[in-house]
Amino acid sequence: MFGIWGHEKAAEITYYGLHALQHRGQEGAGIVVSDGETLKLHRDLGLVNDVFKRTSFSELAGHAAIGHVRYTTQEDRGIDSVQPLLFRSQTNSMALAEVGNIMNSHKLRGELEDEGSILQTQSDTELLAHLMKRNGKDVTQESIIEALQQFTGAYAYLILQEDKMHVALDPRGIRPLSIGKLGNAYIVASETCAIDLVGGTFEREVLPGELITISDKAIESTRFTLREQRKVCAMEYVYLSRPDSDLNHVNVHASRKKMGKELAKEAPIEADVVTGVPDSSISAAIGYAEQSGLPYEMGIIKNRYVGRTFIQPSQTLREQGVKLKLAPVRGIVEGKRIVMIDDSIVRGTTSKRIVRMLKEAGAKEVHVRIASPAIENPCFYGIDMSTKKELIAANHSIKEIGDIIEADSVAFLSAEGLEQAIIKDKTIHQGICNACMTGDYPVVDNEQTNRSYMK
Ligand code: 5GP
Ligand code: SF4
Ligand code: MG
Repeated sequence: MFGIWGHEKAAEITYYGLHALQHRGQEGAGIVVSDGETLKLHRDLGLVNDVFKRTSFSELAGHAAIGHVRYTTQEDRGIDSVQPLLFRSQTNSMALAEVGNIMNSHKLRGELEDEGSILQTQSDTELLAHLMKRNGKDVTQESIIEALQQFTGAYAYLILQEDKMHVALDPRGIRPLSIGKLGNAYIVASETCAIDLVGGTFEREVLPGELITISDKAIESTRFTLREQRKVCAMEYVYLSRPDSDLNHVNVHASRKKMGKELAKEAPIEADVVTGVPDSSISAAIGYAEQSGLPYEMGIIKNRYVGRTFIQPSQTLREQGVKLKLAPVRGIVEGKRIVMIDDSIVRGTTSKRIVRMLKEAGAKEVHVRIASPAIENPCFYGIDMSTKKELIAANHSIKEIGDIIEADSVAFLSAEGLEQAIIKDKTIHQGICNACMTGDYPVVDNEQTNRSYMK
């Protein structure tokens, strides 16, 4: 998500901002711009570059804009769910963009449908729109707060009206969201790398349970829940975010390197070289090499023109994706004992293919070291790890995982090691969510837990 208020090239800057956030979603992209009188939307399925290929930004003139790149966590994959969503009424319009997941959405949808609402999509974004407008209310800070207080889950929202932009973050601050400035304009972005890319400066994090309203007159902040301890998603550091972003005042690359170092302390092994799976595991591999004293080598290279494997729809496509994407460097791996670092194991698909690939290229031994704890639980907060059935670590012991992925040995970073790599000072950084690894969920809702936990 990216938003800007108070800049004459709002849509164009949002477009560049979305480029910096492209790794967060590749299924669709969209921008809504306000010129103070009307809202205009352009969105489509595909990458940012493709969606705006034929767009002339003079047609998207305005001083404020919000944009979104889509990464689907539900079955809803059509154009109708590409955000921002734009809602028009006789008096005014609004556009909404969301990151995250509302756990009690099924119940809230049922209530709205009983009252006569007809929803078009499966998305939580549309749900917020209906809740805000319930009983014919105007969209104000009060109606937004009333709606958000009905939600259980993890979310970040951008709401654009003709004359205002609202920014909201869930009570635990599970999803990242930062505020920046570009001259006099305000920027909001899921990651700080987008603020950097457009030449802005970081101002501060959006706080857990905070609602910020920006207009030409003022920037106002209020808290819609009691102050709760922050629990930033650990997977943002492990895998999802870009290494040049700082989340909650911690640089992502630095935290990954530390994960690698901790891993080397916890799970050393006699070997010749350390290699990482590009791109997300390189930082951890460098850390492992530095700590262990083994040389870091580029044993695997990546074809940059193939998208992220995990985000593709089906298992068969995912498997093909991995094949297309990575290749061994024979001259480096041949005859060697390799420590292969990956950031995480979800289904085990990636690790298994890479072990095989390295062995086919002549590696003598392949020792898999994973820079995060085993993922044994589903995520209810907007990251698509799907169901328990598919998680290899939920169904197999570490020894069995080693056999399945055909590694000579396998080890995972401990939950303590991960926390140490991310949190330097508890008074500043508070806590992390690591529920998918430990089962310790910071936000629970029986509806979702019952529906999908044991699938
Ligand atoms: P697997 O192949 O075990 O199902 O998935 C793990 C691999 O997918 C890792 O190499 C990781 O970099 C990549 N990956 C892509 N998207 C995600 C995600 O959303 N979460 C996690 N944990 N890994 C992901
Ligand atoms: Fe992130 Fe895992 Fe928590 Fe989901 S459960 S928010 S992926 S740490
Ligand atoms: Mg990877």
